[in-house]
Amino acid sequence: MSKYDYLIVGAGLYGAVFAHKAKKAGKKVLVIEKRDHIAGNIYTKKIEGINVHQYGAHIFHTNNRQVWDFVCQFAVFNRFTNSPVANYKGELYSLPFNMYTFNKMWGITTPDEAREIIERQRREAGIINPANLEEQAISLVGRDIYEKLIKGYTMKQWGRDCSELPAFIIKRLPVRFTFDNNYFNALYQGIPVGGYTKLVENMLEGIEIRLGTDYLVNKRELDSLAGHVVYTGAIDAYFNYCLGNLEYRTVSFETEVLEMPNFQGNAAVNYTDSETPYTRIIEHKWFEFGRDEEGRELPKTVISREYSREWKPGDEPYYPVNDEKNAALYDNYKKLAEKETNVIFGGRLGEYKYYDMDAVIKAALDKWEECSSC
Ligand code: UDP
Repeated sequence: MSKYDYLIVGAGLYGAVFAHKAKKAGKKVLVIEKRDHIAGNIYTKKIEGINVHQYGAHIFHTNNRQVWDFVCQFAVFNRFTNSPVANYKGELYSLPFNMYTFNKMWGITTPDEAREIIERQRREAGIINPANLEEQAISLVGRDIYEKLIKGYTMKQWGRDCSELPAFIIKRLPVRFTFDNNYFNALYQGIPVGGYTKLVENMLEGIEIRLGTDYLVNKRELDSLAGHVVYTGAIDAYFNYCLGNLEYRTVSFETEVLEMPNFQGNAAVNYTDSETPYTRIIEHKWFEFGRDEEGRELPKTVISREYSREWKPGDEPYYPVNDEKNAALYDNYKKLAEKETNVIFGGRLGEYKYYDMDAVIKAALDKWEECSSC
């Protein structure tokens, strides 16, 4: 008899959601985590009274009522709305692409004028069925916006030319012919008051967690503890890279405390030219309106410059590179995964998928439903 019903590998969002549901259903659950903290890449740490997003900015947004109701059990969400600013060589533009962006780019004031320019630029580029990110971007917003706000940023973020990347990446961003700077088309949006770590801590309440425990190093011993494993680490690492490495992008952060109350006046400023070495600067206090939980204004600020580069062994994997080559390799790993009885592969790394937080939660909830009904 195993001591636990489920061994959950990884205390990130997928693992925490699954663990919560299993525990609630009366299952015996053990969560193990390689790092010395829970919450995976949504981990936040308080510095100078500010919840710093240690592994990059996370803004919760969803259209899914089931997911929203689920997360609201664990935190109160503030009314933060993501409205990043793009800085192209000192020119500032509103994101996502909307009438403010078009006005600044072309001096036009009406949606019809904007559509006309975009349509003309798309025609000039001769694009009918966009086959990659570059063609998709030009057909959505025209060449000027592509050149100034997309090309350099994407090249820095992915380390690949836009013509080598899949079109879906740019479709994550809305294009609007209205004056609306909300980055997301989501019904529900916000940042959990008290930080994401607290939210995950609440989700994992009453569940045994072992930090600093590397599953792949002690796999056989850990497997013997439970009837089922939920593995949320990298799928290629699970199989000891036997078919080759899947490619990831990793991100590093240069975080600084500044003796000033306001550095850039916004949570996110994207540097969209190709020369600036970082992709964006996050000023964490603006996720919470520059105030602490008691409503006091904070005298200092914390900023993080974000640098993107190719992942190599030993780095943290962040973004799966969902191009054709990697998609084909992932399919082969998936076939191996299907043969592993009693192991569920989940989350951004387990499924090699460019998942948003709400989609990760939905996937974990669905997986739990599937498991609990069979
Ligand atoms: N993107 C861009 N310019 C920007 C912001 C985003 O070209 O100022 C493109 C880029 O290719 C990026 C994609 O849009 O990879 C998706 O951006 P998103 O903000 O969704 O990325 P994430 O927040 O996941 O890093």
